Amino acid sequence: MGSVTRMPALFIGHGSPMNAIEDNAYTAAWAARANSLPRPERILCVSAHWFTEGTRLLDTRNPRMVYDMYGFPEALYRVVFAAPGAPDTAVRAQELIERPVSVDNSWGFDHGAWSVLCRMYPEADIPVLMLSVDAHASMEEHAAIGRQLRALRDEGVLIIGSGNIVHNLARIDWHTPGGYQWATDFDGYIKRSLLEGNADKVIHYEQAGSSAALAFRTVEHYAPLLYAMGAAHEGNEVQVFNEACLLGSLSMTSYQFG
Ligand code: ZN
Repeated sequence: MGSVTRMPALFIGHGSPMNAIEDNAYTAAWAARANSLPRPERILCVSAHWFTEGTRLLDTRNPRMVYDMYGFPEALYRVVFAAPGAPDTAVRAQELIERPVSVDNSWGFDHGAWSVLCRMYPEADIPVLMLSVDAHASMEEHAAIGRQLRALRDEGVLIIGSGNIVHNLARIDWHTPGGYQWATDFDGYIKRSLLEGNADKVIHYEQAGSSAALAFRTVEHYAPLLYAMGAAHEGNEVQVFNEACLLGSLSMTSYQFG
């Protein structure tokens, strides 16, 4: 691809799927973030909502839409994010990842991907590669996959992990505007660890103490952070945006590495 600007890696706290069609401070910050970056040649998206046996990717040229959410207004099921797939980047990712990676074109753009990407890149003209979160991988392994994908940043690929650092739906309270104390505690622990460049504390998040046991029940929304963090070079600047907890048990806090 010749000489290309090194792209950063992002972790986006995606929150409600309604962010695809509702304008708010979070979606405005996603759009502003995209505008502030060099235009990527490709996007590699690791979505919390593709939680699989083993690591999988799409290598189709025309990924389908996956409306993997229930009980939302009809308008949300009409959102189309028609970006092409990135079979060339799929080949590169398979070369770089040092574990078996299978092709699974039964998936497509799930709402972890399209609710964010349709706000960041509404033209949908940048090819997107979807990579799954292996349900059986350890936090070390998620971070290692991110590290192995780091070289893509020098090939014009924007790596985006899409999840939520605090995501405990069983504890959501629609009448709580901010976060519970334990939610802001855990969110703050992760922020301090990332700003210190202490990846070990993010991998071993249980060191946060009692807040870690409440932050999430399953790891699929947390793990995408490990891919973005793993893709960071030592000493890369870490920027925080959309720093907020809402509905008690959800964090929107997002990061740019590099
Ligand atoms: Zn989600």
